[in-house]
Amino acid sequence: MVCKRSILCAVACGLFIFTALVFSVHSSHAAVADSFRLPLDGTWKISQQFGVQVPDPPVTDRYHLAEDVGRGFEEAPIFATANGTVKHAASHTNYGYVVAIEHSLPEGGEVCSVYGHLRASGLAGLGDVGKGQLIGYLSADSSETAGTTMPHLHFGIRSGAFSENPDPVDGQFRYRGYGPSSVMGEWFDPIDFVGPRLMPKFAYGNRLMANRDLNVRNLAAGADIGDQL
Ligand SMILES: [Zn+2]
Repeated sequence: MVCKRSILCAVACGLFIFTALVFSVHSSHAAVADSFRLPLDGTWKISQQFGVQVPDPPVTDRYHLAEDVGRGFEEAPIFATANGTVKHAASHTNYGYVVAIEHSLPEGGEVCSVYGHLRASGLAGLGDVGKGQLIGYLSADSSETAGTTMPHLHFGIRSGAFSENPDPVDGQFRYRGYGPSSVMGEWFDPIDFVGPRLMPKFAYGNRLMANRDLNVRNLAAGADIGDQL
């Protein structure tokens, strides 16, 4: 009997360890970012386009690395653009609170989505998030947004896996809001990137694809697209 109990115990322990290992391995990889959504509900009205030159004398080689989207004075909720892992959630000078999420793409490789000018309270913790999960709120407090009085989201998409290391080009914070032309190649226009990935590929017919392309153009023009997405 003792022997049988020992065997049973050994089997049970083995199963437990195996299950724990499988779970830990599985949970260390966030779900693939197989579709995307815009991080704000409602109208996507761009107040500053991606890639525009915004000189800050004496620095003239300075470009916007994201799109800015406002919501009046509302501290609107911000949602993860796709499945991924929150790798960074902290305050930065001239930026307020920033969340960076790393996404694994279905075709391989990674990108990081960046959400700037957020409120201190309600900020996401580090770890896996699902597409559409609440990760924070816009802030109307200028002390939190480094002087910005109109709440707005700074939404950027940078190529590559997340890194805490400074940008190799100039040693600045890698997920900053503005950068020299030499770093522009590391960033996507968020709408060009997110637009074609708004839904899983299998959900599209040709007609939907055409509508989607139209929506993307409207978004880029700052038009009110209502609930089309
Ligand atoms: Zn911005």
